[in-house]
Amino acid sequence: MNTTYSEDDLLLLSGIQHFAYCERQWALIHVEKQWLENVKTVEGRHLHERVHNPDLIEKRGDLLTARSLPIVSLRLGLYGMLDLLEFHQTGPDQGGTKLPNREGFWLPKPVEYKRGKAKPDDRDEVQLCAQGICLEEMLQARIEEGDLYYGENRRRVVVAFDSALRSRVEELSRRMHQVFENGITPPAEKGHRCSLCSLKDVCMPDLTRKSRPVKGYIEKEIGDLPS
Ligand code: SF4
Repeated sequence: MNTTYSEDDLLLLSGIQHFAYCERQWALIHVEKQWLENVKTVEGRHLHERVHNPDLIEKRGDLLTARSLPIVSLRLGLYGMLDLLEFHQTGPDQGGTKLPNREGFWLPKPVEYKRGKAKPDDRDEVQLCAQGICLEEMLQARIEEGDLYYGENRRRVVVAFDSALRSRVEELSRRMHQVFENGITPPAEKGHRCSLCSLKDVCMPDLTRKSRPVKGYIEKEIGDLPS
């Protein structure tokens, strides 16, 4: 993959979750800039507005927390905002990093807030790992894991940033840049996910999916064509 991108080429990191879900959905949002809000996306934004309060910085015992941090990776070519970064106090041999005006070593851990509950696919893990890679680049530290916090059941899920997940993030970000550069929205690939997609009315997957002959569509939706 490209070793580094320029700042002019950066794409929104949060888009990687859309890209992992459906390349066409991401392209409609980020290339064609079409965005329809359904109830789920509005609820999700309200949760993010709460955690993106820059005044909320806390120290509790061995834990430091910083909220709403801008993050960037020139290697992935992505930038965005981190919901919450925790620093856990640790020993020098446990991968911690030094912090200005703080004694000791601190282990960074990104936390991403999500409306709802854990999903059957990996889009949340991919987004969190991309955040972790940004932090590694910015802090010059190794980050082995992060947490997903799900609002519906108020549970945290630990996500290990293993080599398979890191490779998936790198491949997705590489493809995002490729699709963005081409400026061509991929065709629809209709599936179960379409019924939950906030863009299905814009996407019209029945009309736009690839390899579907127009004649077949008209016959099914409208009736037999005159011979
Ligand atoms: S309706 Fe389906 S194919 Fe279209 S953008 Fe949504 S998930 Fe992708």
